[in-house]
Amino acid sequence: MKVLRFLFFTTGVFCLTAAGAQLSCSTAAYTKLQESDPAIARSIRTAEQFIQQAADFPNMARIENGVVRIPVVIHNLYHTPDQKITDAQVAAQLETLNQAFRRKNPDTVNTPVSFRAVAADCEIEFSLATSDARKRNTTGIIRKYSPISSWVMDDKMKKSAEMGDDAWDTRNYLNIWVCNLDKFAGYSTVPGSDFSMDGIVIGLAAFGGGQKTIVHEAGHWMGLKHLWGDAYCGDDAVDDTPKQASYTVGCPTTVRVTCGNNPTGDMYNNYMDFTNDVCMNLFTKGQKSRMLAAFNPGGARTSLISSTGLDRPLIFESALPEEDPRWLQVKMYPNPVNAELNLDFSYDVRWLGKTIFVTNLVGQSVMNVTISSKIQSLDVKNLKPGVYFLAAKNDQGLSIKMKFIKL
Ligand SMILES: [Zn+2]
Repeated sequence: MKVLRFLFFTTGVFCLTAAGAQLSCSTAAYTKLQESDPAIARSIRTAEQFIQQAADFPNMARIENGVVRIPVVIHNLYHTPDQKITDAQVAAQLETLNQAFRRKNPDTVNTPVSFRAVAADCEIEFSLATSDARKRNTTGIIRKYSPISSWVMDDKMKKSAEMGDDAWDTRNYLNIWVCNLDKFAGYSTVPGSDFSMDGIVIGLAAFGGGQKTIVHEAGHWMGLKHLWGDAYCGDDAVDDTPKQASYTVGCPTTVRVTCGNNPTGDMYNNYMDFTNDVCMNLFTKGQKSRMLAAFNPGGARTSLISSTGLDRPLIFESALPEEDPRWLQVKMYPNPVNAELNLDFSYDVRWLGKTIFVTNLVGQSVMNVTISSKIQSLDVKNLKPGVYFLAAKNDQGLSIKMKFIKL
């Protein structure tokens, strides 16, 4: 048991430190953290039992004859303009994702002959939401400035109050956050984990056409485990993936036998390994059964089947201008004030050169000051005691309206 725990731990650490083309997924470490809450641990266990029972009966695992279509909302948190992802990048990434889940990826020929018979068209597709929770039209892509320049695996990117962006109703949408993740490529919740935090996080460097981190994470989101079951020769609860000792680094080309899995050897071309993106090219029929099982009535993903997220919207509104970051505002101190009022504009240098207007309670102008410094001081000692208003407007249409009390 000690050995197993040690190996699990090293897997988690690996996930957090790997970078570059190598898939570095920290879902196992993240799930371990989530499971420190006994209620969530129970819920994940229940979801797993459900999947295992349903996946044992393949006829039950099918939702309908058609394809499962999942409405997706992308939350792109950017700190610098180059971190804004384009519509074209999103489209290219979704195409790679859908190709993988429909086995329409151009590299199916690279699947070793010994595994081709079990390779599956998972019949799952992902589409950008067309209708929001209030049935208004949407592009399915939210771009939001954040003063946070780099994110870690603590889910803050999923919370508006933490300068991230709140999830859309996770019962109806697959939420995907794309942001500057520190040190690793992505992580996902698994079925049964905390509802409010449900979804996938992908680092900016791992997002775009041809990138497969999102394929791997979507697999986790629908209940797939790593091939090695996060333990030495562990179990991924899928019969047609050979047992394998551990994750794969790089891009092997020869049969690698571990855990007595000859003659086929490890299935390192499977999306649920850590192999380089260019060498991953299959899900199996057993994995497909597990994923579809989560959509069965009573399963953790069943609500997605009846989502209205891909419906034609009932209300059409022209796109709103990007939301002003609420957490960014001028700081004013002290208030009430005796002699010198300070205004801190350091969050946004675009205020420099603009004018501050001070008016009294009856609307008379009592002072105009040009902002010449990030910390602007106003000499108010000659103002009569009372309430004053302070206002300014910049070229971006942002305005400041504040109230202060002169003692
Ligand atoms: Zn993973």
